[in-house]
Amino acid sequence: MNRILWSPWHGCHKCSPGCQNCYVYYLDQLHNKDASIVTKSKTNFTLPLKKTRNGDYKIPSGSEVATCFTSDFFLEEADVWRDEAWSIIKQRSDVTFLICTKRVERFLDCIPSDWNDGYSNVILAVTCENQEKIEKRLPILLSIPVQKKYVFVSPILEEVHFGSFLKSGQIDLVSVGGESYPNARECNFDWIKIIKKECDQNDIPFDFHQTGHHFVKNQKHYKISHREEYSQAKKAMKYLEEND
Ligand code: SF4
Repeated sequence: MNRILWSPWHGCHKCSPGCQNCYVYYLDQLHNKDASIVTKSKTNFTLPLKKTRNGDYKIPSGSEVATCFTSDFFLEEADVWRDEAWSIIKQRSDVTFLICTKRVERFLDCIPSDWNDGYSNVILAVTCENQEKIEKRLPILLSIPVQKKYVFVSPILEEVHFGSFLKSGQIDLVSVGGESYPNARECNFDWIKIIKKECDQNDIPFDFHQTGHHFVKNQKHYKISHREEYSQAKKAMKYLEEND
């Protein structure tokens, strides 16, 4: 599937242990930008509606749009812009919008009046980087009307257990990843194996999407370049499947 980034606004505020080494802050400071200043995109706000000279949408039908990955869709500053963003999402019902948040507690205050059971083209991914956030955010995710629900354990910060949350029948994917860039905290492959086992036991699709920069496997520590974090995660999973 074609995956495209759409950042209708940029910048964010740290609100959770997983934010400590936020990649938005890291990348912005390389360009002398202050990531704590939240701004509406002048050029990309309406990206999903933009068309080519031929009259086709620039974002092809069937694409997956990673929405607001340089901010948080449910940030307070974005309250004034979000209705317009929802309207754009509704108009592109032929495209899937993946919205990832650490602020799921704001969800019910931020949905449009015609949301009902949820737009069928929206996936909501809630980030839970440690056990405390699993216990806090998953009950909210399970209580809200969304047609497709993902859990991102990213960046994973410790060994976590889902327990009965995975028995709800509501979670469509669990995806785990380590932290990127030089100050990254470790991602231990033993933690990944525990989550995969819980997902397998509950028939929930599982993905280990990136190792992070500081990867620990079989008690050995590896420093992985950002470019290789994704391929190394695939390799680690392949190794697990072949040797399990
Ligand atoms: S919520 Fe996401 S984008 Fe915002 S500071 Fe935390 S990690 Fe960064």
